Amino acid sequence: MADDLDAIIIGAGFGGLAAAIKLKDAGFGRIVVLEKGDRIGGTWRENTYPGACCDVPSRLYSYSFALNPDWSRAFSPHDEIRAYMDKVADQFGVTGKFRFNAEVEKAVWDEATSRWVVTIKGGETLSAPVLVSGLGQLNKPGYAGIPGVETFKGDNWHSARWRHDVDLTGKTVGCIGAGASAIQYIPEIARTAGKVVIFQRTPNYIVPRLDKTFSDFEKWLFRTFPAIDRLNRWFIWQMMDLRFQAFKTGTKAAESFKALALKYLDQVVTDPVLKAKLTPDYPIGCKRILVSDDYYQALMQPNVELVTEAVKTVTARGVETVNGAEHACDVLVYGTGFVTTDFIQPVEIVGAGGKSLTEAWKDGAEAYLGVTVAGFPNLFMLYGPNTNLGHNSIIVMIEAQVGYMVEAMKELKRRGAKSLSVTPEAFKRFNVELQDDLGKTAWAGSCSSWYKTASGKITNNWSGDTATYIKLMRSPVLADYAVA
Ligand code: NAP
Repeated sequence: MADDLDAIIIGAGFGGLAAAIKLKDAGFGRIVVLEKGDRIGGTWRENTYPGACCDVPSRLYSYSFALNPDWSRAFSPHDEIRAYMDKVADQFGVTGKFRFNAEVEKAVWDEATSRWVVTIKGGETLSAPVLVSGLGQLNKPGYAGIPGVETFKGDNWHSARWRHDVDLTGKTVGCIGAGASAIQYIPEIARTAGKVVIFQRTPNYIVPRLDKTFSDFEKWLFRTFPAIDRLNRWFIWQMMDLRFQAFKTGTKAAESFKALALKYLDQVVTDPVLKAKLTPDYPIGCKRILVSDDYYQALMQPNVELVTEAVKTVTARGVETVNGAEHACDVLVYGTGFVTTDFIQPVEIVGAGGKSLTEAWKDGAEAYLGVTVAGFPNLFMLYGPNTNLGHNSIIVMIEAQVGYMVEAMKELKRRGAKSLSVTPEAFKRFNVELQDDLGKTAWAGSCSSWYKTASGKITNNWSGDTATYIKLMRSPVLADYAVA
């Protein structure tokens, strides 16, 4: 068992990479990042579907400490984002800290030594005083419990497991789901498929993405004068943070945002029947507001059909809807989202007193500031419970969380202490206030979303803007922690 580590990080996505860089910079360089896949990238390693790109501007969906003057577009494609992550790992000298094809199965807090003992698939164990989860929220593809999935005879896959070996030219492609991923790949496959049949359960609010390419001159400008890039990033961040007002129930900002989305629908879609099918009937922001410059346009192509009758079952030949119609398909694509509310599972985390995280979270996941959990000393989560956003870049949140963790580890070192655990009182107080605030947001509205559990508890989203979060995360309030 290797015992000379400062920390073990699980997951090589944006969270794990930032943690590796910032821990190394702070003098905690004895780290390993354990990753089940074969390369850095996280969600950008897994989601390679046609048209996959970030719906947050790249200047802000990148680290503040690693600006990239070379983004090709305002909203860059997935392969460019992944390549950026590789480059950043090299630039900051942490590439050698990653261990790939190393799937973590279990992590147990050993009270006698105040260390986390981590078991990797195959049986190897490692230990370190600190455990960092960079698993995030969107890593387990979900099939939404649709019956008959296994009976379909043709090729079929989930959007996060795209089969690039199957040529869709001329084929009838059934697309179940019309969410954030689907609206990106549907316009792409509609270019070559014979027919695209979309099974939409709920329409989304969509606003224009306003994507653009950066000219060579702009790239030169950003490269030569990084201050311009930095200022630009700051401006985008501020503008996006203002949008949080639209997620508060009953505000003027919410009304304006809704009007903007409906105006866009009205401008692009001329067929009244199609328009009616695409008009949401729930408060804006309750589900993720989508951005696209080509989805509505794709829906108006003659080879694209929008089916709004509910899916009853998948059959050997295609999809049967509740009105008894069977839609024959050659290929089925599941854009049915992710299992989002059980967070770190299936990794088994066992904290103080032998209590598992699954047990602690039986009524829904929760954390203190999204990063620590009572009874789980020295465990830090990145993009953990209640840190997702509907209005800004998750990278901003991740950087705040990594900074907080580094400050906590420095404090432990300063005091010569071994462990830090949020007190049950602080944990409870924070979560009561958080849920109270969330009750006043659009997410508590009348819609189903991946932000909440079956019982309606909002486990995924942060209740405010990112500026407020950053302020709270500057350094740990030690009165809220038991330090031993
Ligand atoms: P999603 O937005 O949750 O969409 C899942 C879709 O499947 C929804 O349209 C849902 O309908 C539908 N669905 C579920 N069960 C169904 C059923 N029984 N019959 C028919 N349809 C069904 O999932 P996603 O598209 O994978 O995106 C998930 C999240 O990933 C996004 O919200 C976003 O945060 C992130 N993402 C980000 C980007 C980016 O550019 N940054 C891109 C893609 C995804 P209902 O709405 O009725 O539930």
